[in-house]
Formats: sequence, C-alpha cells, structure tokens
Amino acid sequence: MNVEAFNVGWITSSAAIWRQGEDPEHELRFPIPAYIIETDDERILVDTGLHPGAVADAEAFYGRPSLFRFELEQPITEQIDPATVTRIVLTHLHFDHAGALTLLPPSIPIVIQRREWEAGHDRAAVERNFFSPRDYAGLDDGRLVLVDGDHDLLGDGSVELLLTPGHTPGHQSVRVGSGLVLGADVTHFASTLEDHRFPSFADDFDAQADSARRLRRMRDDDGVRVMPGHDPDVLRPGPVAL
Ligand SMILES: [Zn+2]
Repeated sequence: MNVEAFNVGWITSSAAIWRQGEDPEHELRFPIPAYIIETDDERILVDTGLHPGAVADAEAFYGRPSLFRFELEQPITEQIDPATVTRIVLTHLHFDHAGALTLLPPSIPIVIQRREWEAGHDRAAVERNFFSPRDYAGLDDGRLVLVDGDHDLLGDGSVELLLTPGHTPGHQSVRVGSGLVLGADVTHFASTLEDHRFPSFADDFDAQADSARRLRRMRDDDGVRVMPGHDPDVLRPGPVAL
C-alpha cells in the first residue's frame, strides 16, 4: 500500500478563525491537502480540495461573502489521472475538501458518513456548518456509499474509516495500515491534539474534543502517526510513510 499527499492550494485568513486565542490581526496561510491511497486493486482519493472556480472568485462562485483568500496550487484533477480513481472518500463536506467533487468522473463512488450527508441537506445544519451545497448538489444517488460509524472500507482491515465527529456532524478520518491516520480536520494543526485550540467554529466542540482524544490515544498507545488537517509545518506533498 502507498499513500501520496497532494497540495491543491492555500487559504489565507485571520489565524483566530483556525486556532482559538490567536491575535485576530495575525494572518495565517495554510495548505489544502488531498491524498491518494493506492493498493493492488484500488486508487482511493481522500478529499478533493478546492474548486478552481471558487479560487477565481469565491463570492461569485458561492454567492456569499468570503472571509478567506484562496490560492490554487493545481486542481486535483490535474495532479492525478481522474480516470484511475476507484473511490472517493470525503472526510467531510466543507468546500476545501468537497469543492472539486463535481470535476471528477461521475462513475466514481463517493464514500461519506450518512450523518454528514444528511447534515449537508438540512438547512439549519448547512448554515451552522458553513456548508456550500453547490459543492455536492446534483450528484447521482447511485454513486453514494453512506456509512454509519467506523467502516472497514475494503473488507480486509487495511483501510478503515473512523467516525470522528465534532468539526462537522459526520466528520471521518482514515486509518491506513497500522501506522497512519489521516485525521483531516479533527485537528487543524498537529499541536491541536494536545491543546484542543480548535477553530472558532464547530458543529459540536465536545464531540470534537472526544474525537481528538481518540486520535491522540491511537498516537500514544499504538504509535500511529496522525496527519493534521492543515498544518503548514507538517504537510508536504509527496509519499507519506506508512
Ligand atoms: Zn479543512
């Protein structure tokens, strides 16, 4: 099994949005990763990054003001051969994870937690979580693989989806082999596993803290490497050690 990290682009905005207690005047620029997990039979894309249209003009694309500045490194569809992807796993529905979904071939199954998908179609949850339904509207229901809780993706224990809610209602992380967890936005930064200085917004801060404790236990007890969601000091494109 191999895992490769890609950097789709960058977000710059007030650091206080992303780590509680930061000076609101201080700006932070951080990467937007996506990953390919490759097995003998599969190429699994974990998250899709930004849509180039949102980078070009976020306010026009989403029809609402944007607090962020975006930069495109390269769309995920130009960094990989989309025709080779066998499944798409979405950690959650935020625009920096699901944004490029509509650019990928409509034949590829999309694996997401049922509760995340349902939240993405609930008006109050959409507003509370800053979801952008444009990112995932109009998909063929036949593509959807809705899972409930932890899920053995390939049936052989090699890749497991871990329900890690809180950042959003049905956020999930991805364990690959016995040594790596793609934590996604359970913790924005590596240090958030320790200090729980989460972003200023969450669907449920208590649940997010529980999810962070779960990943921290995996790190401390099992020696698992936990990849944070957007840590500019940790994330680098290229092969990820398993
Ligand atoms: Zn994110």
